[in-house]
Amino acid sequence: MPRPAHAFRFAALALLLCAAAAAQNAGSLWPEGKRAAVSLTFDDARTSQIDTGLPLLEKLGVRATFFVSPNNVGNRLDGWKRAAAQGHEIGNHSMTHPCTGNYAFSRSNALEDYDLERIAQDIDAAQEAIRKLLGATPVSFAYPCGLKFVGRGRNVRSYVPVVAERFLLGRGYMDEAANDPAVFDPAQAMGTPFDDMGPEEALKIVRQAAREGRWVIFVGHDIGPRRFQSVDSAAIEAIAAHAKDPASGIWLDAAGAVARHLGRSRR
Ligand SMILES: [Zn+2]
Repeated sequence: MPRPAHAFRFAALALLLCAAAAAQNAGSLWPEGKRAAVSLTFDDARTSQIDTGLPLLEKLGVRATFFVSPNNVGNRLDGWKRAAAQGHEIGNHSMTHPCTGNYAFSRSNALEDYDLERIAQDIDAAQEAIRKLLGATPVSFAYPCGLKFVGRGRNVRSYVPVVAERFLLGRGYMDEAANDPAVFDPAQAMGTPFDDMGPEEALKIVRQAAREGRWVIFVGHDIGPRRFQSVDSAAIEAIAAHAKDPASGIWLDAAGAVARHLGRSRR
């Protein structure tokens, strides 16, 4: 039994430690024990996402987000139904994937020729098609090519508000930083390129996020061997193994789940 003076000092020290722990917790928007978040997202409903990605993610026990183009879903309809049933997030990536006409594939469907009404209709058509095909109602949207405008010159408008009205999350592409949970705008969250990246390069980004308390939303296309517009399976494996180690402080989950959590914890 400590003497009264010691007991007082002990109690004061305990109080101090509690206050310090509470202050640290109040400063973090992440779940207990986590210092940062990572989401793996894949666009366009490419067949390799089902053929190679789905078994890999299942083996690793990782939940990802697939921003599907409804017109490609039919190529692996049963696979996409399985992905949704396994708890992967199905997101909206628009119906016709309009980008700038500077990309040859988008010349006849260019954002420069769109207005806000037309882009809203395109997004709503995708939402309806995804509901019909997969029974899922997306809460997340990925801007095709990461572009967020319609029109040309003085008539250019941002379509971020169209996305903000409809979704919890709007994800960009080719952005140069991860999201700061305290200040980022969920309607235009930053997306980090993930294609053609080795495991070490991917882990470097994840470790930096842990140091800075950020949310990395990786954006990939095909899944398999490392090449142009394809995510290296080894990079996915490395991130999954790293996140399984509690010491990493990484919360690895679907983008919509992280957005929902931040929506609550930022209030
Ligand atoms: Zn795309």
